[in-house]
Amino acid sequence: MVRLLIEGGADIDKAMDGGATPLCVASLQGHLEVRELSFTYSGQSPCGTVLVELKDWVVRPQTPPRTTTTNMSRKILHDAMSIPTAPFVEHLVIEHIEQFCARRKNVTLKRDAAGNTLIRVKQGTRKIARPVCITAHLDHPGFIADKMTGKGRVRAFWRGGVPKEYFVGSGVRFWVDDKWMRGKVKSIKTVMRSGQRRVDTAVITVPGEVPTGSIGMWDFGDPVVRGSRIYARDCDDMAGASAMLACIDELVRRRRSCDAYFLFTRAEEVGFIGAIAACRLKTIPKKCFIVAMETSTELPHARMGDGPILRVGDRASAFTPQVTAYCHRIARELDSADKRFKFQRKLMDGGTCESSAYCTLGYDATGLCVALGNYHNVNKKTGKLGPEYIDLDDYDNVVKWFVELARAPHPYTGKDETLIKQISELEKAYKTLLRSTVRKPK
Ligand SMILES: [Zn+2]
Repeated sequence: MVRLLIEGGADIDKAMDGGATPLCVASLQGHLEVRELSFTYSGQSPCGTVLVELKDWVVRPQTPPRTTTTNMSRKILHDAMSIPTAPFVEHLVIEHIEQFCARRKNVTLKRDAAGNTLIRVKQGTRKIARPVCITAHLDHPGFIADKMTGKGRVRAFWRGGVPKEYFVGSGVRFWVDDKWMRGKVKSIKTVMRSGQRRVDTAVITVPGEVPTGSIGMWDFGDPVVRGSRIYARDCDDMAGASAMLACIDELVRRRRSCDAYFLFTRAEEVGFIGAIAACRLKTIPKKCFIVAMETSTELPHARMGDGPILRVGDRASAFTPQVTAYCHRIARELDSADKRFKFQRKLMDGGTCESSAYCTLGYDATGLCVALGNYHNVNKKTGKLGPEYIDLDDYDNVVKWFVELARAPHPYTGKDETLIKQISELEKAYKTLLRSTVRKPK
């Protein structure tokens, strides 16, 4: 039997109703999870404390403070997913990011010659030799208005990967004078690109004038939460970009000691053109290792809601094994400290992502993703377009993962420390036996 003082804020009433609530009581050694209580004194003392006797308890190891999974990161997601974007016309999201950073301390921002945005968050005096650079792209498959070809008709360029069968008759919305103008695809023109027939331009009927350069997206409303999922025009890759912003917010708001870079790239949907330019322009410091964040089609072996996915590779290549191993180690540590955290480690070979470009162009890189429904707005079940969706717990867990990568409790060294340790332990354990059992050849 142990006696302790519980602070006045604890939910004593619930505990008295048969102990349905395991009260969490902070102690010096760790967290006490109280299973059953018996009270020796149930009144409140003037300083608001209650004396109780504990019959049964377990001590959980000290866990790091939980990262935000709350209103702020959800608001960041909702805001970003409401902004119009398409390949080569990401300026509204970039403005949003600039304003976001201007409101926060210890955040520096620069744009490279290709319009990619690099953010650095540096807090505390600790030096990290190889800091993380987390990346995501700011575009989503969409249209850019070319010109009006007649009254109520606009021709628009199409950029991104959506099969041609889904276009004619589908709704489109153009961002004109700070509001949406809705139209419908009347006809398309296709070209052969990379051995496939792809949509190049479309004629869209509209009720008014659409200026050249206007952003066009499929006609779905602003984000909606249903159950544990969020439905939006562009989870790909506003979910990734938002998780990065939520991580930045968490680092700054809680003044976490860190040194981390965040790169927001342009024009990924036409073949990660922004990421390639960022490598050529040396936008990302050479000392960084890269974790590229994506959304990726849900696969039978990588389910939505089972946690964000550490990608060991994509259709084109396997990523830097040491970076993958490092992210894996961080995730395992989070997993043991936080009950709500979960993750997966998979080969996601449904497509090719920016990590392949980073690896090929000389960086140590790996990828993270969340499983995505209605990839590129294609709903294969209905044969029509639909909003994309992701699981919000997956999103929250990505944010936690990013925060730990940025904090770097034990920084990346370019080596798989866990595997090196395992191998040397095995070696040590059996070296003598191995040698002493060698028999000379007859
Ligand atoms: Zn995409």
